[in-house]
Amino acid sequence: MFCKSCGREIAEGTQFCPYCGASQNSANNVATTQESKVWGILSLIFGILGGWLGLVFGIIGLCTYKDKENKLMCKVGIGVFAFWAIIYLLILISSFSLVNG
Ligand SMILES: [Zn+2]
Repeated sequence: MFCKSCGREIAEGTQFCPYCGASQNSANNVATTQESKVWGILSLIFGILGGWLGLVFGIIGLCTYKDKENKLMCKVGIGVFAFWAIIYLLILISSFSLVNG
């Protein structure tokens, strides 16, 4: 493999370039973090829209993430969905009571 900073050939799996000291993992880590945020963002979006997918993506995210910030985003997404679920239930119950009453 080659150094991402100076382009010199370095040993496979080396974390820091012995020539310039540049970290060889940072670029990959940033990409992975941004990619994994997708679940949290989807969870938030669908959670706000009141969709079941908010719950699904939130659970996937909670299982996938190790990062506290990302987990919080999923929890908020699930929480917002739970809020909608309660409203749906209340509407359902009130419509049933209207039918019965
Ligand atoms: Zn280098």
